Amino acid sequence: MPPTDTDNTDDTGDIDDLEQGRLLFARECLFVTGAADRDGLPSGDLPEVAFAGRSNVGKSSLLNALTGRKTLARTSNTPGRTRQLNFFDLGGRLMLADLPGYGYARTGRAEVRSWTRLTMDYLRGRVSLRRICLLIDARHGPKPPDKEVMAQLDAAAVVYQVVLTKADKTRPAALAECLAATAGVIAKRPAAHPDIIVTSAVKGTGIADLRAALAALAAPAVIR
Ligand code: GDP
Repeated sequence: MPPTDTDNTDDTGDIDDLEQGRLLFARECLFVTGAADRDGLPSGDLPEVAFAGRSNVGKSSLLNALTGRKTLARTSNTPGRTRQLNFFDLGGRLMLADLPGYGYARTGRAEVRSWTRLTMDYLRGRVSLRRICLLIDARHGPKPPDKEVMAQLDAAAVVYQVVLTKADKTRPAALAECLAATAGVIAKRPAAHPDIIVTSAVKGTGIADLRAALAALAAPAVIR
């Protein structure tokens, strides 16, 4: 008997999941607030996903690609907001939190420490936080500042999922190496999600898969 596609899957994932992701990210995405300290955090009524990564990792570009809008990154990059945690309501189903970039090469550890203070304030007791997307450049793999942040997230017991960015800038063999190295780094980390998502904001690679992964964390759609 010929094989049948009984589980409705293709090479990139479950079609229903991809459709759920598409539907979620087709919704309106509205800026809620920028928080400079714990008192400025919005209420945690919605499931929340935060985006973190080293400065220049491609976070703004990825957020733009995910939401299909330029609003998010533009808002987050407004002077005065770059050191804040910026919150966006995605269709009343998911809160997106854009965390400040960390780890400039020259300031390294100090930068990570200050990032950590603000961010750890946020992480502690943020019951609504479902996951952190930890963005890592596919050309470089996890660097010492990324590993420090992973250790902080492990300590806070917040699940983080590695999202490799700028995949279009690497050759397939180098990308495979980076994936293997990254998998090795997260293998023994208690709070790391085992699935690594490879993306390119420029080519659109992995965007549908990331949307699907995030849709699985969102509040159910209200049927009217
Ligand atoms: P952020 O500082 O993490 O928000 O990074 P940006 O989104 O501003 O991106 C930093 C630089 O990387 C910019 O020059 C982007 O055009 C570039 N970039 C971001 N994502 C991609 C990508 O997927 N592919 C390529 N080729 N370049 C990218």
